[in-house]
Amino acid sequence: MTYNKKLWEECANFHRHICPGLAIGFKAGEYIRKLWGVKASIDEEIVCVTENDACGVDAISYVLGCSLGKGNLIFRDRGKNAYSFFHRETSEAIRLVRKANTKGLSREESLEFYLKTDPEELFEIKKPHYELPPKAQFFSSSPCSKCEEITAEHRLRISDDKLYCLDCYDEYDRRW
Ligand SMILES: [Zn+2]
Ligand SMILES: [Zn+2]
Repeated sequence: MTYNKKLWEECANFHRHICPGLAIGFKAGEYIRKLWGVKASIDEEIVCVTENDACGVDAISYVLGCSLGKGNLIFRDRGKNAYSFFHRETSEAIRLVRKANTKGLSREESLEFYLKTDPEELFEIKKPHYELPPKAQFFSSSPCSKCEEITAEHRLRISDDKLYCLDCYDEYDRRW
């Protein structure tokens, strides 16, 4: 299996070092490019929900244009080497879960293995078990009554009719 060497080099340049984790994300991104006939997303047309925050996420940012800032990279912290991709225009959705592992291989050998293995062998190909997240929204902001830092509405809490940011709000937990 060949891979796009130029794209891989650009990706490594973006991440600033070469590592096996980056190669996993790169293969996922390259697979989606081919499968859906897309390049890096200019706006939010391709959305990635990543279930880890490791090196591979940087490759997905570079290869598919999914970034935290644009709102089309969503971190769903599950500690899994899994990524879901959604295409907003065609409604396609796919979840890639790494299945191959490189136990016993050196770092160099792992890198080589990930780059050269077919994505179908590298990943289990599934359907996401969650919905496409809504588009990035803009929220009004207000200052926190305690620290006075301007905070987006959906992250403010109310206590005694005053607004508090999450860092200043003392949660009164009535669950038992
Ligand atoms: Zn890395
Ligand atoms: Zn505050």
